[in-house]
Amino acid sequence: MNVQEKVNILMVDDQPSKLLSYEVILKELGENLIKAGSGREALEHLLKTDVAVVLMDVSMPELDGFELAQLIHQHPRYQKTAIIFISAVHLTDLDQLKGYEHGAVDYISVPVVPELLRAKVSVFADLYRKTRQLEQLNRELEQRVAERTEELEQRAEALQRLNVELQRRNQELDAFTYSASHDLKEPLRGVSNYAQFLIEDYGEILGSEGRQMLITMQRLTRRMDDLLNSLLHYSRIERVELGQSEINLAQVVQEALDHLQARLQEEYIQVRLAPSLPTIRGDRAQITEVFTNLLSNALKYNDKAEKHVEIGVQNAPENRSPIIYVRDNGIGISPDHQEKIFEIFRRLHTHDAYGGGTGAGLTIVKKIIERHGGRIWVESTPGNGATFYFTIGEEVAKENAQRQVALSIG
Ligand code: ADP
Repeated sequence: MNVQEKVNILMVDDQPSKLLSYEVILKELGENLIKAGSGREALEHLLKTDVAVVLMDVSMPELDGFELAQLIHQHPRYQKTAIIFISAVHLTDLDQLKGYEHGAVDYISVPVVPELLRAKVSVFADLYRKTRQLEQLNRELEQRVAERTEELEQRAEALQRLNVELQRRNQELDAFTYSASHDLKEPLRGVSNYAQFLIEDYGEILGSEGRQMLITMQRLTRRMDDLLNSLLHYSRIERVELGQSEINLAQVVQEALDHLQARLQEEYIQVRLAPSLPTIRGDRAQITEVFTNLLSNALKYNDKAEKHVEIGVQNAPENRSPIIYVRDNGIGISPDHQEKIFEIFRRLHTHDAYGGGTGAGLTIVKKIIERHGGRIWVESTPGNGATFYFTIGEEVAKENAQRQVALSIG
């Protein structure tokens, strides 16, 4: 129903002359006027058409106005139909409302003042139109919400399927990486051995230049072996079952420092540990490896005379996991490289610079953290150190929070 659409006004009176006079008065409203000479006739109309306002004489033979109004309002469809009584006697407020809890009810006394009657009918007619419009809008809105919900559900399902597929493919890829790197190691060992035989048995014939070439060849096979070992290690992370123990971070950092003992004896680095490091849940060996890698890098990529590293925690908002950080005062990382360093075999320097490395350390760290439902990122100003931030169990915390919200809503 739109704003211009006409509504039906049912006029009920047993006297045709009165019906005629109401018609004359209400004509200028431009609505559809329906006449009924009795209560029964009025009910027949009501069953056939939607009526916005019923205008009726209180005293009619057979079925008086009040009885008719009661019948009308008993019908669920007409409970809210507006009724205007026309009465020769004055009706008190109580009389008017007697028995009609629902719907708009009003009355007009005789003699009818045309302007007043028009005003009252027009108010109810507009109210009817607006209510219908609102109902229509509500239905459309509900329809749209239902459509959108269905669409979102379908997308969530598709995403879920894709995730499962992605996981399956990742596992396949890991299995492939594992067996490929495993199988490649053996012929590589053969190449290295044969280079050694050549040096030992044919070194004289080859001369110093030839021997040097073979030594380089052996160095390259060692490097390739290191890369394969890193790959093997990387693919193993996904294959081992993830431990779920309570881990005291301060203890884990100490274990990581113990692993680096040999290096720490050669080079001094001041380690500052925040006094209240949290306890987290996860795989102790893998979390120790995260710290060993990050601390080792903090030591390696540092050209300052006084090296220091700080391990701390930033308290996250409620329901979020804490953010742990490892901050050093080393060479830093330019913004262009801050994402690339997490790619496998990505080194920003030559092989031997800064103590060498395969460029797999941070990729392994990232994988461990992601397996623990967390994420890692770095902030740095080149020349002024780098801070590696990571979370553990963030995804799990998020899922729990979502579940809690769902529970409290449902
Ligand atoms: P690797 O140390 O074997 O090269 P990583 O994956 O641990 O491998 O690091 C990748 C690269 O990221 C390093 O080659 C280095 O350029 C850079 N990097 C890592 N940690 C730091 C750090 N704390 N400060 C500056 N650069 C870093």
